[in-house]
Amino acid sequence: MRRILFFAAVACLAVPAVAGDAHTAAALRDRALADSTAWNVLESLTTEIGPRPAGSPAAQRARDWALAKLRALGFANVHAEPFAKPSWGRGEEWAQVVRPYPQPLAVIGLGGSVSTPPRGIEADIVVLKSYAAVLAAPAHAFKGKIVVVNQPMKRTRDVSGYSAAVVARFGVSEAAKRGAVAYLVRSISTGNTREPHTGATDYAPNTPKIPAAALGVPDADLLERMAARGPVRLRLKLASFLRPTSTAWNVSGEIAGSARPDQVIVIGGHLDSWDPGTGAIDDGAGVAITTAAARLIGQLPRHPRRTIRVVLWGSEETGGSGSAYLTAHKGELAKIVAAAESDLGADRVYRLELPQDALRRRALKPQARLLAPLKVLVSRNAPKHAGSDVEGLQKAGVPVFALDQDASRYFDIHHSADDTLAVVDRAQLGQNVAAWAALLYLLADSDVDFRAKPAHKSVP
Ligand code: ZN
Ligand code: ZN
Repeated sequence: MRRILFFAAVACLAVPAVAGDAHTAAALRDRALADSTAWNVLESLTTEIGPRPAGSPAAQRARDWALAKLRALGFANVHAEPFAKPSWGRGEEWAQVVRPYPQPLAVIGLGGSVSTPPRGIEADIVVLKSYAAVLAAPAHAFKGKIVVVNQPMKRTRDVSGYSAAVVARFGVSEAAKRGAVAYLVRSISTGNTREPHTGATDYAPNTPKIPAAALGVPDADLLERMAARGPVRLRLKLASFLRPTSTAWNVSGEIAGSARPDQVIVIGGHLDSWDPGTGAIDDGAGVAITTAAARLIGQLPRHPRRTIRVVLWGSEETGGSGSAYLTAHKGELAKIVAAAESDLGADRVYRLELPQDALRRRALKPQARLLAPLKVLVSRNAPKHAGSDVEGLQKAGVPVFALDQDASRYFDIHHSADDTLAVVDRAQLGQNVAAWAALLYLLADSDVDFRAKPAHKSVP
């Protein structure tokens, strides 16, 4: 035991952990709370670009916006990295009850859905109260029917409510396998407004591709009540198109490190969005928060030791930007010391999760105290998920961290026409920037290697 202690002590002395200056980090935190950069970035993106699905002409304008914005905010090495992105676009969509109670319904096609025939599909519905009921149904159970899945989503502070509910959005092929001609899912939402919430779906191979859409939450309940009274007949029209050869871009800019510029911390949000809203909380907020935090650090008289790289990923919603980034940066993975994405809206951060063992590092000890005034707890656990655009990096061994946001309100709005600047709480947006700025400064000004086991881990 003594021997272990001795070696541990030597290791600590031989490689002194450089601590970021806690005073500077605290000053950054406080400045961020009063700084308007994030709000201005978000206002600019939602006003000047608006909805920007990957592969759309608006996404190209968003790329140019991002390049100009990062340059104007003083970032170095600003550039766009293109990648091939076959994309999907929406056309005319509607649904109506034909009988017994004729009336229109609020629907929105799911990303990737095939079209109905031009005049629509007309069929009887079968309503199921959960996605599990779809899976439990026997072969041919839905022959010739439009399947309606009315599974409510639970409101939770973390993403567990969403994770449990979102599987229903990907259930289209399970319904098709059992003979369904179309698939309607209750919006994956905690809200109760009639705005339907879109999102991606996908088709299993060797299964008929049937049209798929989300119903407004009250419309799903309406159909369930009608179906309890007897047979219900619907007409559904969905039109969509594919752009097989479109391009998307990951746009990035850097705050160059002052001592170890080759060591990089990768952060960012995704620049693409769904089409019904203006992509304010998903994910203009993540773009704005990480850009503003890095910019504040860039304005310091001395940059931290390591480079901070803001990446604005170009195709999160329908996938592709994370894997494109991983492919393009394969050669520098060892130099990416940590990565994280902000992609859960604009509401406050309540918890920090650092890479495993990070809290054993002296250099990171000030963390808990720094974030306490922001009411951010420091978790003992490493994050399981740090954003889908950094999943590829994470799987390739890059340590990840997460500033977990309160998602209680997020899924009332997410992927719907209500995702606009109007729902952003400016004070909570600022709290996010403060947490990111203080944390990033400390990580970037340290020399902690998150891949290595702490030298003093063996101390009992
Ligand atoms: Zn997102
Ligand atoms: Zn999204």
